Amino acid sequence: MAKAWLALGANMGDAKAQIESAISHIAQHADIEITKQSKMIISKAWGKTDQSDFHNIVIEIATDIEPKKLLKICQEIENKLGRIRGEKWGPRIIDIDIIAYDRFEIASKFLTLPHPYAHERDFVIDLLREISPLTAEWIVELAGKD
Ligand code: AMP
Repeated sequence: MAKAWLALGANMGDAKAQIESAISHIAQHADIEITKQSKMIISKAWGKTDQSDFHNIVIEIATDIEPKKLLKICQEIENKLGRIRGEKWGPRIIDIDIIAYDRFEIASKFLTLPHPYAHERDFVIDLLREISPLTAEWIVELAGKD
């Protein structure tokens, strides 16, 4: 089975409850097993800073679902929780990003792996380091090669 790391974030409504709800949707999927979960942290908004703080968490999953299908499943869960796609980096009820999928490197229109901003976002790298230090290291090293 492949391992993948997902970053969840929210900064509208009851952000903590929304992240917990997204995690339970992921856990309920027949072909996904959550194998690790970081602590939840509160971070300053990134990219567009004039908005509420975010709650963030990173989870590790084991799955045989291929990356693009996995992204689709994440987006379906976002939609189920009421995510409306508004401005880039704007406030959000829930955001689920695939940070990495094994050591795959992909740059397609819909999916870039590892996630192109992961290494710039301390909250992602720090939470990832907590549950998978080698993956965090790999992402940072790869970004340094640009
Ligand atoms: P966002 O508004 O942050 O949820 O961005 C979602 C968009 O980023 C979607 O159109 C995805 O196709 C694209 N995307 C590219 N790479 C990734 C990734 N690794 N994880 C999640 N979304 C991605």
